[in-house]
Formats: sequence, C-alpha cells, structure tokens
Amino acid sequence: MAQRPKIVLVGQLLTTPWVLDAAQRIGVDVVLVPWTGTSVEAARQATAVTEVLPLDIEGDPDHALAALVERHRADPFDGIMAGNELVVPFTARAAKALGLTGLSEEAAAIVRDKRAMRRALSEAGLDVPGFVLLERAEDWTDALTLRFPVVVKPVRGFSSLGVIRVDDKEQLEQAVGRTWELVQARAHKPVETGGGGGVLVEEYLDGPEISAESLVHDGRVRIGAIAWKGEITGPYFEETTLRAPAQLPTEILSAIEAEVVAAHQAFGVDQGATHTELRLVGGVRPVLLEMGARIGGGGFMHHFVQVSSGIDFAADTLRVHLGREPLCWTEETVPTGHAAAYLVPVGTGGVFRRVRGLDEVLADPRVDHVSQGVAPGTVLRPYPAWSAYPAIVLSHHESDAAAVAFRDHLVRTLHVEYEEQG
Ligand code: ADP
Ligand code: CA
Repeated sequence: MAQRPKIVLVGQLLTTPWVLDAAQRIGVDVVLVPWTGTSVEAARQATAVTEVLPLDIEGDPDHALAALVERHRADPFDGIMAGNELVVPFTARAAKALGLTGLSEEAAAIVRDKRAMRRALSEAGLDVPGFVLLERAEDWTDALTLRFPVVVKPVRGFSSLGVIRVDDKEQLEQAVGRTWELVQARAHKPVETGGGGGVLVEEYLDGPEISAESLVHDGRVRIGAIAWKGEITGPYFEETTLRAPAQLPTEILSAIEAEVVAAHQAFGVDQGATHTELRLVGGVRPVLLEMGARIGGGGFMHHFVQVSSGIDFAADTLRVHLGREPLCWTEETVPTGHAAAYLVPVGTGGVFRRVRGLDEVLADPRVDHVSQGVAPGTVLRPYPAWSAYPAIVLSHHESDAAAVAFRDHLVRTLHVEYEEQG
C-alpha cells in the first residue's frame, strides 16, 4: 500500500476543525505546527494529527525554518499549508526551502501588505481608492489630500484590528494615533508575522461588503462561493454576519469574478485557497479591499463553499498543497443550500464569562458548528482593538430569507456575559 501523504499545517488553530476534518476524510496525515498559545498536548489529540512540531515562528522564524528543513530531510513531507493569516509569508518561504507547492515569497509578501496590494491592483489597471502610507504617526497630514471619509488601518493588519473610519479632517490625527498604538503593540514581532509596517489611510468605499472564496491551482482560479456581509459602515468594522450565496444579479456576480481573477494575477497568487474581500461601491461596482492567501475565517469559509456549491473546499485546498489537481476541476458538484455565519459581537468587552444562550443554539438542527475559542477569564477588548471572537455560529438554511430570519433570532438570543468589575 502506498504511504499516506503527509502535510505540514502551520499555525492551524484547533478551535477551527475544517481542515483537520478534511485531512481525515481524504486520508492525509497532518504534521501540526501549533500556533502561539496552543498546547502541544491538545495538538497531539487533534483529528488527523500524527506529529506535532512546536516551532517559534513568531519569535524566531529563521530557527523555525531550519528545524523544519532538518525534519524534512529525515522523513520528507508532501505538502505545507498556512493555517492562519500571519504565517502566510513564513509558509511560502518554507515551501520554497522544502521544494513543495506554495506561493512565491513575493506573492506572499504582497498579500500581507495592504499598500503592496493597492499598488499591484493599480498597476494592473484595477479600481483602487486613493491611499497614503504613513511611516510615522507624525506624518498624518500627508493624508489630508485624500477625499474624506477615509479609513485608517494597519498596513499588515488582521481582523479589523485598529481599522477606523474618519469623516472629518479634524479627527484624523487622533485616529492615526490610536491605530499607531495598536501597530506598535506588535512592533516587536518579525515583519514576517505581522510586526511593524506603518499605517495606511485610504478613501472610504461606500457600499455593501462581500467576500469571494477561491481555489487556485497552477494559476487557474475558481470561485467557490460569494458571500454577503452587508452594510458595515464603521467607525469600527466588527464583522457579525455572512451569508452565501450572495443574492446578486448575474452581471454583478460576473463583474466580481472578473475582479477577483484579475487580482490573483496582479498579486501572483497561483496556488492554494484565497479569501478576497470587496466592497460593491454604489451597490454595483466591485472594488477589492484585500486578499488573504488561505481559507478564510480560520477555516470556516470551507462551510460556505461546501454548502453553497457542493465543493469540498478544505479537501481540495489540501490537494492543491500536495501538488495535486483539485477534484472539483473534473467532478460535478451540487449545492445543498444557503450557508450562514454569525459572529457574536464583543460589545463592551471585559473579562469574559460566557456566551448566554448558546446551549439552545447548539441543539438547533440548522446549526452545523459553534466555535468557542475563548476561555472564561480571558480579557476581550472592544473594537478598534481586538482579541478574539467570543463565539461563531455556522448554520445552513433553505433560503436566504430563512438565513436572515435565523440571524435575527441569534441577535436576540445570544449575549456575551462579562465579569462585573468592582
Ligand atoms: P483587516 O486585515 O483588518 O481585515 P481590511 O482592509 O479588510 O483589514 O479592513 C477591515 C474592514 O474595514 C473591512 O472589512 C471593511 O469593512 C473596512 N474597510 C477597510 N478599508 C475600507 C475602505 N477603503 N472603504 C470602506 N471600508 C473599508
Ligand atoms: Ca479583512
């Protein structure tokens, strides 16, 4: 019997099971490189994990890479894949060093840098809002030439941390200062895992937000799902709901597809899964916000693609990283319904106790999964800071209207409880 293929999953969180479950489903062994804060013991117990390699990617990427190369020499891996946004550049570098399928280091650096993405899109002739990069907080006046409102954000950010909408020029200095502080809090980390990088100010794109989940193999892009996030107007950008398929006319869906495919080419992203965020300016014109070169939502966008298109997204992403063709290239896939996610809002923040109402939700037949990644006693900070999502509920429905009704039900029934501060 042929040996089972072995894939290295870098920084995969255990609270998001989709990729690990997919590995199990298709008979792939996982060598897990746990993310900061994940216990090695818990990692050993996880589905499909046959080996745990604790490496300090955030603290010492060079040493981590050397250890990976040495381990590969002893018993070669068949693939490597990023399990979270911050390890995309490290994973590209490691793929190259190990001779495995992956992004080029250039492409990985572009998709982790919001200014580099803006430049690449602009050079490719795609639509971009006006933008200014500030390398020091004191340079905030450079951004006064932009058309307001603007959005201030870390150039190497994630999860809307430090993203602030500014309507008036008078408020710009304060917003830049606030975002700058949040950037500085990570400045000690290597650039590779999101340290430093400065602050980007860009013109506000007015319109609803959508995302596109794609599979890419040898440069060919296929969109598996387009999800609707709705109007998120700020001043802070906490995401709370997604639904797929987005209910949009065919012309707009085609325009989104054209924009997303062109963005992959502009960035040089030619292997793996991607999560692209866009705004529909005026409700019609798709403009890219950013692209992540990994399965979105820490893996949960697999659920959206699976339900709304029938593609086994996580499994096909694993196949691409093992150097194989995705099955959905040749096999017919059948959608099974409408997918939805509700991210329980952090609200005021505080010392987390629990999410009230979850027991009932867990028993609901429409609910496929509830992620609860926050231990009681953890301090959750409100936006524009960010620490973690209190809980994420994934569900499936017969129609978009049913998904909306369920979302409204969750908004009414789920509440984060914090310890009372004396
Ligand atoms: P992050 O890496 O933190 O997710 P994004 O660029 O995706 O950074 O910004 C987070 C959110 O802020 C977006 O999902 C969007 O809602 C909002 N946002 C960012 N830039 C703009 C913009 N130019 N116009 C409108 N909204 C924006
Ligand atoms: Ca984003």
